[in-house]
Amino acid sequence: MTAPSAGKAANDLDPFWMPFTANRAFKAQPRLFASARDMHYFTPDGRAVLDGTAGLWCVNAGHARKPIVEAIQRQAEILDYAPTFQLGHPLAFELASRLGMLLPGDLNHVFFAGSGSEAVDSALKIAFAYQRAKGFENRTRLIGRQKGYHGVGFGGISVGGLENNRRGFPTLPGVDHLSHTLNLDEAAFTRGQPTWGLHLADELEALIASHGAETIAAVIVEPMSGSAGVIVPPVGYLERLREITARHGILLIFDEVITGFGRMGALTASEALGVTPDLLTCAKGLTNGAVPMGAVGVSAAVYQSVVEGAAGPGIEFFHGYTYSGHPLAAAAGLATLDVYESEGLFERATELTPYWQDAVHSLKGLPHVIDVRDLGLVAGIELAPRADAPGARATEVFHRAFDDGILVRVTADVIALSPPLIISRAQIDELIDRLSTIIKQTS
Ligand code: PLP
Repeated sequence: MTAPSAGKAANDLDPFWMPFTANRAFKAQPRLFASARDMHYFTPDGRAVLDGTAGLWCVNAGHARKPIVEAIQRQAEILDYAPTFQLGHPLAFELASRLGMLLPGDLNHVFFAGSGSEAVDSALKIAFAYQRAKGFENRTRLIGRQKGYHGVGFGGISVGGLENNRRGFPTLPGVDHLSHTLNLDEAAFTRGQPTWGLHLADELEALIASHGAETIAAVIVEPMSGSAGVIVPPVGYLERLREITARHGILLIFDEVITGFGRMGALTASEALGVTPDLLTCAKGLTNGAVPMGAVGVSAAVYQSVVEGAAGPGIEFFHGYTYSGHPLAAAAGLATLDVYESEGLFERATELTPYWQDAVHSLKGLPHVIDVRDLGLVAGIELAPRADAPGARATEVFHRAFDDGILVRVTADVIALSPPLIISRAQIDELIDRLSTIIKQTS
């Protein structure tokens, strides 16, 4: 008999290889949450932490909301799992119908996935399938954007533009990237959408000219980039992308994994900003983060071409996941939509936005703060990096914030805030007051 390894006995945090985490540093000094309710997390020793990030941009209705909890509990007893390959169960159809009615324009069909990354890779494959169905076999090129984040599948990292996520991995061939639109010299401390940067959408015309429209399947962007540190679309930019893609037969995909479900004051950023894509990916707030689920909203034209117009009687699209339309996720999704609707949370986000904007822009003038940006109930506060250690200053803010009882998120030297939409004005004040004190204390 062999003795268990000393490592196993010594440290029960060790076996979990944590995602996007400095594992060694975390395990030396862990930060754990044991429970959550409404606007707060609670640590194992019972300390409350005000959630300034809706978990990871997902708990838009607040934590452990009773109607969602009960719907999941009920569903687990009624039907725990059912396949959706050549079979089905009612709730997946119900959620797809409801989403199809709520999504903007003619995005009236829904393909389910298990996460945002899966939704993105599904959308990219749907784009290829559409172009093939239309007879455009050569439209295999994809265009993303620098600093874009589209999850961690190979499709997502290929069209994504965050170097750390791409470096060291093979990516798809035939992918180009538009420039990102962040420019502190031109637009620092803008409230809402900057007026500078519209011209960057015209890079798409240049890429089309150099490759030929007949080689390009789709363009994918986040309407507002979140993970790269809150990059707000310039006025007219998304409209311009829409106009150019439509003119050239290129599909436009909006990745709304974080901008969906009220973050921008409407179901989608597409609706809030008045630009409708051909495909729209979402996840996170779809189930209030309570059960993993992703989805692709698909236009009538795309569904018609790939499915209704398929040549033979068999499977039209060779793609799907064991958990596509999972019963617990579908139940959570339906209950979440009920909560958003019955509590008017999207309207609430719209009402809160001016107050939020004033609050976050009050941080202008604090030491190290070189930009504050916002859109909807999102803010990015950018700090000047330390000369010798980019990212270290914001990381210190994150650690101090956790110790002080507020949850913020940092990417490089940007502090990102995206609270649940149930946040009160007093809680906005608390979040910003505490953050202000912490920024002042950080060297
Ligand atoms: N797309 C965007 C815009 C995201 O922000 C994220 C996650 O933050 C993803 C895709 C990936 O989602 P997931 O982590 O659920 O795979």
